[in-house]
Amino acid sequence: MTAPSDKALVPFVSVDLMMQLVHRVGLTEMIAAIAAAIEEDFRRWDAFDKTPRVAAHSPVGVIELMPTADDAHYAFKYVNGHPGNTRGGLQTVTAFGLLADMTTGYPLLLSEMTLLTALRTAAMSAVAARHLAPKGATTMAMIGNGAQAEFQSVAMQGLCGITHVRLYDTDPKATEKCARNLAGTGLTVTACTTAEDALEGAQIVTTCTADKRNATILTDNMVGAGLHINAIGGDCPGKTELAEAVLHRSDIFVEYPPQTRVEGEIQQLAPDHPVTELWQVIAGHAQGRRSADQITLFDSVGFAIEDFSALRVVRDKAVETGLHIPLDLLADPDDPRDLYGMLSRAAPAS
Ligand code: NAD
Repeated sequence: MTAPSDKALVPFVSVDLMMQLVHRVGLTEMIAAIAAAIEEDFRRWDAFDKTPRVAAHSPVGVIELMPTADDAHYAFKYVNGHPGNTRGGLQTVTAFGLLADMTTGYPLLLSEMTLLTALRTAAMSAVAARHLAPKGATTMAMIGNGAQAEFQSVAMQGLCGITHVRLYDTDPKATEKCARNLAGTGLTVTACTTAEDALEGAQIVTTCTADKRNATILTDNMVGAGLHINAIGGDCPGKTELAEAVLHRSDIFVEYPPQTRVEGEIQQLAPDHPVTELWQVIAGHAQGRRSADQITLFDSVGFAIEDFSALRVVRDKAVETGLHIPLDLLADPDDPRDLYGMLSRAAPAS
């Protein structure tokens, strides 16, 4: 039996290797590298093929495929969202994805993306907050203290200068877990018993709850002038976090309108309600925050270009550090047209 040639081996970053990579690079540094790649890719927005993600819904969750490509590379992510999973000891969100070469169509990287999604979602929130949050913001309310929460907090600390996070979750155990994990990061952490309490003195609020319904995490009276909201958890039809009245008082920034109009908070609004595409702000074509008392809302749903950016960072870092496994994923017949003949390599010796 002959081994596949090196050119046919695909670098694979497993969950274990992703954890090692995060430690090798540093958590904040990794999020910062992904944030920089997202900004770079958002600035060349028109270079990408874009499509809303393709979703398969069930009564308990969703499975989504998120593809995009530029002239050089193609990427997709497979991701699920099952809010009931944690009751059975499973993650709400798991993911894996692939980066490929547009010239040959050959994969360049296969990677776990559960951790990577948490990193890129945190990076994306920080990018949005850098353009939209009030200047000098130091305190963030973090509502929903599940899998994403610590990553969001660390990103806001490292990239936006947040020094204090105020935690709230309907499940006090989630808040305890989050506070425990954030001890030693240098953040001042306050565990709160209501969402209203969490918002006390906060200039930024991040909502990151998981519930497959139109929830009201932020009511109108909770949102004061000047607040920046990163609304992350509402990311499916029928799954939102904000009272509609909050949306009418906010300037709304989105990733890709054709996807956000279906999946984001703005599914509650008329289809022509004005929104600003965040890439326009990053590229300098539109204004972010204009005044100290403006309420800004980043209606985050997660878009394929963010995963593309994250995958290209991981590909570079995995190659640089050697933290990848060569995966025998592609056929490599001696004669490219003799796929049938390749079968003989595995024929049992008679
Ligand atoms: P998770 O299940 O680990 O955590 C969610 C937390 O929300 C849980 O601790 C739960 O107790 C809490 N919660 C539920 N209802 C609440 C309420 N009314 N008030 C306060 N807390 C409440 O999930 P996760 O992986 O942290 O993801 C959170 C959400 O973010 C999910 O809905 C997921 O789909 C979404 N998400 C969005 C993006 C994006 O790019 N926008 C990326 C990743 C995840």
